[in-house]
Amino acid sequence: MYSGLSYSVYRALPVRLQNLAVSAISSVRWNHESSPGFRKLVLKLRKMQFWPPDDMEDHRLRRLAEVLRAAANTPFYDGMIPDARTIDSDPAAVLKSLPILDKRTVAERPGDFIPIDVDPAGLVKHGTSGTTGLPLRVYWNRESMDMERALIWRHRLAVGCRFGHDWVGMLGGHRIVPIDQATPPYWRECPPARLSYLSTYHISPDNAVHYHKYLEERQIAFLSGYPSALYALALAFRRCGLSARLKGAFFGAEPLHDFQREAVQEVFGCYLWDYYGLTERVVSASEFECRNGLHLNWENSYFEILDPEGRDVGPGGAGELVGTSLSNTGFTLLRYRTGDMTRLLEGECSCGRISPRVEAIDTKVEDLLVMPDGSLLSASNLTYPFKGMSHIRQSQLYQRVPEELVIRIVPDLGFNDEDVENLRKEVLEVLPAGVSVSVVCVPSIPVNSSGKFSFAVSDVPPPTERS
Ligand SMILES: [Zn+2]
Repeated sequence: MYSGLSYSVYRALPVRLQNLAVSAISSVRWNHESSPGFRKLVLKLRKMQFWPPDDMEDHRLRRLAEVLRAAANTPFYDGMIPDARTIDSDPAAVLKSLPILDKRTVAERPGDFIPIDVDPAGLVKHGTSGTTGLPLRVYWNRESMDMERALIWRHRLAVGCRFGHDWVGMLGGHRIVPIDQATPPYWRECPPARLSYLSTYHISPDNAVHYHKYLEERQIAFLSGYPSALYALALAFRRCGLSARLKGAFFGAEPLHDFQREAVQEVFGCYLWDYYGLTERVVSASEFECRNGLHLNWENSYFEILDPEGRDVGPGGAGELVGTSLSNTGFTLLRYRTGDMTRLLEGECSCGRISPRVEAIDTKVEDLLVMPDGSLLSASNLTYPFKGMSHIRQSQLYQRVPEELVIRIVPDLGFNDEDVENLRKEVLEVLPAGVSVSVVCVPSIPVNSSGKFSFAVSDVPPPTERS
């Protein structure tokens, strides 16, 4: 966000100049997304949703062959990929002959995935801490950046959010408003893009009225952000008896828990649209107006859903999402493990889109808690006891050993011993015997350096690591 402008310089500027800086930086992206070339790509992707399946398959295999040819020139895949003729005759089989790739391997040697004839200076470099805390460096070529952004716009257009017309409020991890600023405005704007960056660090019951007034006056139509941030704003509004009427909200980057969805829908009077994507850009998926699971954006991904033995699951089957980008020939991650579990849905969709659909991707492999007998429990199963609790600002499950689960609580006014006991009892009911539960109150729950929040953090290694 602050590229070309250091944060220490930015934070010292008066609000008016901070707005100008934010607007100038965001406008670069906006100008690109307003260009005829980009709009044409969005239009093309909107048409591709309804292509005959055979045409789509041809298109995907052609792109896959191109990506495989590029990968053959990387240090990592050197000697593993056959000649161009073999690739062209059956790219899918060539892909399947390659090993599954995990995050650790990419984190250790990212440069090995850049083809030797590609100049890294021509790629966009992006660093992330990731939710597991494993720092990762990735590269995107221009085409893959455009594809991902165009897919996001296709998604937004489908649910009624119009380019440069509807104001969107972003609730991300940007320190767009200095932390020590104690009076509004808690937002900075880019008017040409109709984009407003709302600080997630200033959301509190005390500030709720300011955010509320701003949403109304600015006529913010959509919010977009981490579920935890949307939920925090909804809770702050609810504490003050405030509500708003938005056209919709977009979320991503974290799983959305039912209790978060309910609170956001109630307070903002709108539906929450799911867009699944990841920094590695190997696969993405959109929840469209059909609200029938997520359509995989297969125009830009050769995805696989694999069971624990590494076999493809059929319709109805559950497994881990594994993806290969069909556009990023500058950084070729093939069969990359996302760490996200999902289920392939059966049947055609009423909306007429031909792309396969999956269930909402709400279970990270890392979100799994390890039980004393070695079984895995999704942290989502433990969200229910938190539903009825009204004196909690934020919560997190932490596991150091399988026999003990710690519930970290940021208490709100009125949180008392009875709440502690009720919560402990209800969580215990969901857990197998042999696991103890303790509740600790903490002043805050830190987000990681990407500004992301995890409902569950486990330091217990999973019993079996698939290679
Ligand atoms: Zn559909």
